[in-house]
Amino acid sequence: MNSNCVSKENQCSINLAENECSDGMCCFTCVIPPDNAHIGFFKAFWKSGTGASCIKMLIMSEGYKNELYDSCKFLDFLIYKNGTDSDLKMDLRCCVYGSRPKQCADYPDRAGESLYKKISGPCIFNEYTAPSTYKKLVYKREWQAYYAIQDNIDILSNIFVNLDASAGRELLLKANGVYIATVSVGNTEKDYILIPINKQAQKVLYTSEKHQPIVSIRQAYERWEEKIQKNLQNHYGKDWETKLKSAVEMEEKDAGKRCNEDAACNIKG
Ligand code: SF4
Ligand code: SF4
Repeated sequence: MNSNCVSKENQCSINLAENECSDGMCCFTCVIPPDNAHIGFFKAFWKSGTGASCIKMLIMSEGYKNELYDSCKFLDFLIYKNGTDSDLKMDLRCCVYGSRPKQCADYPDRAGESLYKKISGPCIFNEYTAPSTYKKLVYKREWQAYYAIQDNIDILSNIFVNLDASAGRELLLKANGVYIATVSVGNTEKDYILIPINKQAQKVLYTSEKHQPIVSIRQAYERWEEKIQKNLQNHYGKDWETKLKSAVEMEEKDAGKRCNEDAACNIKG
C-alpha cells in the first residue's frame, strides 16, 4: 500500500455521528456471511445502500497483512456537515432496518445462539475499543480500522449529504488522520481515501444489560467466556489457561500500581 501526502492546512475533524451503532462495523465483518447469503432471494433485488459499491473496511496491524472487508449491500454510508460547524460527521446505517434479517436483528445480544447454549460475544466495535491488554491477549495484536472510500468523484457524490462532491472531497482530505493510499484489491490497484475509525465508544457503542463495554480481560472473560475461550485455544493451544491467568494477573497488578501512584499524587497534592 502506498500513501500520498496531502496538505493539512485548515484541518477539520471527521467523527462518527453521536448515535448508537453509527460505526456499522458489524455490517462489514460479523453479521454478514460470505456472498451476503443472509439477504435471501427476493431481497437480492432490493435497492443497495450507498456504502456497498464505494466503501470497504481496512484493518491494519503491525507485522500482519492488511485485511479488506466489503460491506453488506444494504449499508448506507453518509458524510455530512453539522450546521455551521466545520467538522464532518459520518453515519453508517442499514437501509432496510425494519426488514433486516433475523441474525442482524439479534446481533450482538444473541449472536450465534444455538439450541443448546447461548454463545454471544462482544460486538466488533466493542472489541475495537477494548483496552490493549485485551486485544494483545485475545487477538495477539492491536489493530487499527479505517473506512476506505474509492477516490472517484462519481462515487463520492453518493455519500455526501449536504455537500457538493468536490467540496466534500476537499474537506475530507483536510480532516485529521485522513489520507489517500493505493490499495490492491484482487489483481487491480485503486486509490482509496482512508478515514481512521475513532474509538469514541461513548454514545456510539450499542449497550444492553448483556452487552457492556469491555473494561478488563477478567470482566470480558466472565461475560463472554465461550467466545473468548475459543480465541485463546486457537492462539495458544493447551497453554491457553496459563496465558489467560498471567494476563489477568498482570493487568490487575498494573491497575493496582496505577491506583497507588494516583493515591501518592493525591497525598502530595
Ligand atoms: S456498536 Fe456493535 S452492534 Fe452497533 S454497529 Fe457497531 S459493531 Fe455493530
Ligand atoms: S442487512 Fe442491514 S443490519 Fe444486516 S448486515 Fe446488512 S446493513 Fe447490516
